[in-house]
Amino acid sequence: MIDALERIVDVAGLLTGTDIGPRYLNARGHGVAGTPLCVLRPKSTAEVSEILKLCHARGQAIVPQGGMSGLVGGGVPLGGEVVLSLERMIKIEEFDADGRTLTVQAGVILQTAHEYCEARGFMLPLDLGARGSATMGGVISTNAGGVRVIRYGMMRESVLGLEVVLADGTIISSMNKMLKNNAGYDLKHMFIGSEGTLGLVTRAVCRLRAKPKSVNTAFAGIDKFDDVVAFLGHLESTLGGELGSFEVMWSSYDQFVRERCPSLRPPLNAGRGFYVLVETLGNDPSADVAKLESILAESMEKGLVADAAVAQSEQQRAAFWAIRENAGEGFRTLGPICSYDVSMPIRSMGQFGEHITQSISTAYPGATTLVLGHMGDGNLHVVAAVGLGTPAARKQVNDIVYGVIRDLGGSVSAEHGIGTEKKDYLSWSRTPEEIALMRTLKRALDPKGILNPGKVL
Ligand SMILES: Cc1cc2nc3c(=O)[nH]c(=O)nc-3n(C[C@H](O)[C@H](O)[C@H](O)COP(=O)(O)OP(=O)(O)OC[C@H]3O[C@@H](n4cnc5c(N)ncnc54)[C@H](O)[C@@H]3O)c2cc1C
Repeated sequence: MIDALERIVDVAGLLTGTDIGPRYLNARGHGVAGTPLCVLRPKSTAEVSEILKLCHARGQAIVPQGGMSGLVGGGVPLGGEVVLSLERMIKIEEFDADGRTLTVQAGVILQTAHEYCEARGFMLPLDLGARGSATMGGVISTNAGGVRVIRYGMMRESVLGLEVVLADGTIISSMNKMLKNNAGYDLKHMFIGSEGTLGLVTRAVCRLRAKPKSVNTAFAGIDKFDDVVAFLGHLESTLGGELGSFEVMWSSYDQFVRERCPSLRPPLNAGRGFYVLVETLGNDPSADVAKLESILAESMEKGLVADAAVAQSEQQRAAFWAIRENAGEGFRTLGPICSYDVSMPIRSMGQFGEHITQSISTAYPGATTLVLGHMGDGNLHVVAAVGLGTPAARKQVNDIVYGVIRDLGGSVSAEHGIGTEKKDYLSWSRTPEEIALMRTLKRALDPKGILNPGKVL
């Protein structure tokens, strides 16, 4: 196998034995890594196709990898597979200002694409904390969400065209550039979010938006959950489509930041039930900040918001976002943690937060449960530290969190995908008929089951 693969890629394109660094195994600790047969780093779609033809003929399993920032073990090899890393396919192939599109190879880093577009007055809307390592192929294959979904949708909404290599090596080049194209099935959607189980994403045409001329960020303290919901509704109706982010942090998270994250500086006093980070993306720099301030003042008069601060500089804006995104130093002090990415109807979120905090504390007195997330998208993240990292403890906490989600009709995965970590819980959010159709699709596209086996289904 190795001899045959050596004939497809160049010397730097094949790693074996001790040359396989931790990056390709499980640097983030999601799932348990086995030893792969080798790592391949192709430089072109033609090479990817040749690799897949060979693996298909020999029934050789493959694990696709991008930046390995995934949080559910989707890119982690389980043992014996060929790791296929797209990290050397990093060309930005075309920028079309009139058509507002960017054509990229799959290995382009998200932040590189951002910087390229912003330098030309455009934006690629998808943004997330792992922007420095996540790749375009990875964010497409996981249908990533992030912090601007409320305004621009998930990655799916920013993909116009896709090139995919199927399990048998067939190249499906569907590099559409139009916003409208109803000529038959829109095949790209099958691959977006399929976590490398249906095909290898090699290139994409992304939809760009005009870069907003002004970005304003505020932090608000709110006492009751119902007021958080009402505040979101008020912003949606008064901002006329300019709401870019609505991120909510429960009081437990605020307290944790104050106690365990010395580098973060919350802008408001402690003691509120909820803290909300609001960001607006507008086009009138002279008026947008005043508009946000007046909406906040009005919300305070109505009694929805108890306290608020608007960032007055780029530095302050970054400091507000750091509270939401950079709590890693604190998480590391908690010992083993279980983290969750779930979605549910917005109305149910207050009840969800209370219920899981209570149930986890009953099972593990003294446990820390932190709730925060992209509330405007119906998506919350939970971090639970129960003092134990054993499989039994993790299963018990999973059952508590996903059990509440199932009862609420929510999803066990809002944006991170299923990978290996949530496989056992897929049926808690999908019907048997839905799962059977997923299996039918998988069999049709990958009859030998070589693409990312053991993931998702
Ligand atoms: C700090 C931090 C913050 C994050 N915030 C968010 C967030 O807000 N929203 C969000 O949605 N996610 C978030 N994530 C998760 C992660 O960044 C995303 O899942 C991202 O899309 C993964 O991209 P990647 O290139 O690292 O893919 P990888 O981790 O390498 O792979 C992810 C999955 O996609 C498959 N895959 C990768 N490339 C390809 C390809 N070219 N073709 C086919 N399959 C492929 C892999 O097999 C795997 O199943 C965060 C992660 C971190 C570490």
